[in-house]
Amino acid sequence: MDWSGVSIPSGMSDPRPHLGEPLALDLLNTRWSEHGPHDLLTDVAGLRIWLTSAGLGDRAVADAATLTALLVARAAIYDVVVHTRHSGLNTVLEHGRIRRELTESGPADHPDVPERSWLPAWLAADDLLRLMVAAPDRIRQCAHPECTLFFYDTSKNGTRRWHSMATCGNRTKAARHYARKV
Ligand SMILES: [Zn+2]
Repeated sequence: MDWSGVSIPSGMSDPRPHLGEPLALDLLNTRWSEHGPHDLLTDVAGLRIWLTSAGLGDRAVADAATLTALLVARAAIYDVVVHTRHSGLNTVLEHGRIRRELTESGPADHPDVPERSWLPAWLAADDLLRLMVAAPDRIRQCAHPECTLFFYDTSKNGTRRWHSMATCGNRTKAARHYARKV
């Protein structure tokens, strides 16, 4: 699929249809399909929007180096989630580590990523490991055939199928209803 979308003007709010997933999946959701493919991360302006949405606006620099690292991480996370290929993710993870410390307020974990441009990429890769430890089978792609969005199923019984019931869930049900009638 051709992901080269229209670039996003700076100062614009996040244009994506689905926000709020864990960092690793939120990074995957920078690509979406809505009357054709879109990609938030085609330039530094889009990167700035993503960093702000991800709460990383004051921890990372929105520049070409950060964007390049993030695109490597996005491809690596996609490879793990969709193709179960691991080598790319490990390459990203080599850029940092967790440093553990006992502070006055108790034990603490600090991400230690020497190259600042790799911090968002490394945090996203690390977040995928966290999800895989917690419940790997709850990392899902929306079941609607025309939707490419990912979500982490936090429902009680773990049977969520769509990124959003209001859009893809209802679209699917309406299509089934129509199919029964003809
Ligand atoms: Zn969907």
